[in-house]
Amino acid sequence: MRLGHFIAGEYRDPSGGQWLDVFDPARGEAFAQVARGSVQDVDAAIAAAEAAAPAWAVLPTTERARWMERLADALEARLDDFAHAEARDGGKPYKLAREAEIPRAISNLRFFAHAATQFASESHHGQAGLNYTLRQPLGVVATISPWNLPLYLFTWKIAPALAAGNAVVAKPSEVTPVTATMLGELMQQIGFPPGVLNIVHGLGPEVGEPLVVDARVKAVSFTGSTAVGRRIAGLAAPMLKKVSLELGGKNPTLVFTDSHWRDHLDTIVRSAFQNSGQICLCGSRILVERRIYAEFRDALVERVLALRVGDPMDDDSQMGPLVSQAHFDKVIAALARIREEGGRVLCGGHTLDRPGWFVAPTVVEGLGPDCASNRDEIFGPVVTLQAFDNDDEALALANASEYGLAASVWTNDLNRAHRMAAGLRVGMVWINTWLMRDLRTPFGGVGASGLGREGGLEAMRFFTDAKNVGIQIG
Ligand code: NAD
Repeated sequence: MRLGHFIAGEYRDPSGGQWLDVFDPARGEAFAQVARGSVQDVDAAIAAAEAAAPAWAVLPTTERARWMERLADALEARLDDFAHAEARDGGKPYKLAREAEIPRAISNLRFFAHAATQFASESHHGQAGLNYTLRQPLGVVATISPWNLPLYLFTWKIAPALAAGNAVVAKPSEVTPVTATMLGELMQQIGFPPGVLNIVHGLGPEVGEPLVVDARVKAVSFTGSTAVGRRIAGLAAPMLKKVSLELGGKNPTLVFTDSHWRDHLDTIVRSAFQNSGQICLCGSRILVERRIYAEFRDALVERVLALRVGDPMDDDSQMGPLVSQAHFDKVIAALARIREEGGRVLCGGHTLDRPGWFVAPTVVEGLGPDCASNRDEIFGPVVTLQAFDNDDEALALANASEYGLAASVWTNDLNRAHRMAAGLRVGMVWINTWLMRDLRTPFGGVGASGLGREGGLEAMRFFTDAKNVGIQIG
């Protein structure tokens, strides 16, 4: 299988004739090749987007919404194929792809189709006269997405960009390029206007950077690592280009004695190990009130030991492998560092004796907030446990991170829940739940977790420019 670029409604081979291998993480074997794009391919994609942008921008919002709904319908009709492809490409359980991730990609398209018709702008009536604000599309915008939730995050970006009336050049991760490429087939099948969405594949420095620095690209929406986010911010800043950066996390999970933690244990385990811990929102630092620490730890470890790790295609599997050799090596290095720092591995801490990039779900204790293991994002099936004595200490531990993406708080004390929510230095807090998503809410982090917010109207605002018009009356 060869995955070409999708430019101006057609599949194209890379202009340099080079391809990258795409691997099945459950076997560690290549099963496809993806175009290794170059600046020439980026140029062609931007030119196609520029050509398509004016007509798309003036299309009535109801028409734009209809195209997006049709795309969502086409995706829904191929749900099984897409879930299968996502599971193979990323090593995630097929069940997870079929029940959560591809349906969420469909929801993204439908939600922002509605947003296209619901988006409104402000007007300000004053003594001097009337001001109204136009919200106009930017023209050509770029989206750059990661491998952990491939189609889900790809559509999370392209959908608001398209709904707001922009033409898009999208760069999926080279590690998991299959489902984005398949979306092109659906667009061809339904006759989506060519050039409105273009997909360029390849490596970050070879495709992502040329996209970021091209003056024709008016905004960049990026989800990925903090290191690459910083690089993109540095490239975009001198050009005064709009950027939205959704970056890494080291999210705390705060468990209080007064919570029904036993009833919530499955969710707490899921919050740590879903998609092998490769979700930016996973709770990787579990902070537990000392009074229940030992009891909680033992119950957690028992539950984690019972997780079924195996072939992503097997309906019984709750966890699959890590996504790539490079990421596997990174997580193995993090496990070695945990031991060097004196962490006690309560379960896991090793690879599985089978082909592919499998790491056993791992729980660690005995490491303080200053250890690298509690500071650096591991992005794998690894959690640490720390104990706290009171609310202040819980907050101090939770906030002892340069990241600030999300947190979950488990308590039945209403006042405490609100106090924690207000005191946590993060962009999103869940109380007695995890990953409860409502697409209207602002999504994003503070500190090293990023800049700007996506979701709902925030995304529509990002992908438009505000122009105020003042009229004197009388
Ligand atoms: P990554 O930063 O390595 O890559 C992300 C994307 O950027 C890929 O498409 C990649 O090709 C591209 N890229 C790489 N170098 C680039 C460069 N110099 N210029 C432009 N583009 C470049 O991240 P990843 O390993 O694919 O994803 C994992 C990371 O993403 C984790 O840190 C995770 O926390 C983060 N993430 C954040 C969120 C969020 O919403 N905050 C969501 C998912 C993942």
